[in-house]
Amino acid sequence: MLSLLALSCPQCSAPLPRAARWRTVNCSYCGTTVTRGTETIERESFRAALRRANADVPGGRILTWRGARYRVLAPLATGEHSEVLFAERLGALPERVTLKLARDSAANSVLVREGAVLQSLQDLPVQGAAYFTRRLPQPLGVGIAEGLGDGARQALVLRHPAGFWGSLQDVQQANAQGIDPRHAVWIWRRMLEVLAFVHGAGWTHRDLSPAHALVHPRDHGVLVIGWSRAQHATGTVHNAAAARDLMQAAWTVRAVLHGGAAGEPGFGAHTPAPLVALLRQCSEDSAACQRLGAQGIEQALSAASREAFGAPQFVHFDPAPPHRTGA
Ligand SMILES: [Zn+2]
Repeated sequence: MLSLLALSCPQCSAPLPRAARWRTVNCSYCGTTVTRGTETIERESFRAALRRANADVPGGRILTWRGARYRVLAPLATGEHSEVLFAERLGALPERVTLKLARDSAANSVLVREGAVLQSLQDLPVQGAAYFTRRLPQPLGVGIAEGLGDGARQALVLRHPAGFWGSLQDVQQANAQGIDPRHAVWIWRRMLEVLAFVHGAGWTHRDLSPAHALVHPRDHGVLVIGWSRAQHATGTVHNAAAARDLMQAAWTVRAVLHGGAAGEPGFGAHTPAPLVALLRQCSEDSAACQRLGAQGIEQALSAASREAFGAPQFVHFDPAPPHRTGA
């Protein structure tokens, strides 16, 4: 059972061949290269980790980082390079943080790199930065955390964003038949807005997937996380990577529309044709992504959404609706 659950594409969530356990494979649906690794094998739901943690953290562990004491409130996830914890700084100025602890020494440099990328994004001297830096993870720094049972470990500490329910991977798993396509519209739009800002400044994410997008149901917000592979580049190198980001964003939207049921990742059973057409183009046509750019796709999305649903309106989003029978 476990192996069947674990072997899915991190990009589009399609089932992967068993060979993904021991070698690199290409997903036969979205074409992404899946490297054998802990992320493929041990991916764990943010929500499942949180539920389990709430049962077994009486009082919470205490660790120290940069001279301050932090109480661990819950583990959040186990990533490819790190264990992710939710913690609270103790003392006169309490602050809730996300701690990414290196799983091994090779992960140290990955966390240092991710911290540097996030700081660079926070420091961008471009128009709109004050708005968009709040919609990107905010690093407090990288340094050694002590006090855990297994000794000192490198830690990237981030300001903990309030109100996020979980990742789009969790949303997908909680919705076997996929989400209402009206919600796919704002989820996609939020990702495109951040990508437009980041791409405009010469950066690309290079690892977008449902697991790397946290959702804020009340505000219809999306926080793109997992920036350790991000790069700054120019010219054709940047343009190709930016197009790849846009394709991965479209695959991420397809994943939540398709839902957690097995099978080839589609577009959801109730997705209007204009939205399907745009999603198909953006997930499968790299040249179109490059030509349109994030802003062009966003404009096309607005037009497709208006054609399908009329004027935009706010619809309450329940990321994990109770099971329903029938249609
Ligand atoms: Zn795939």
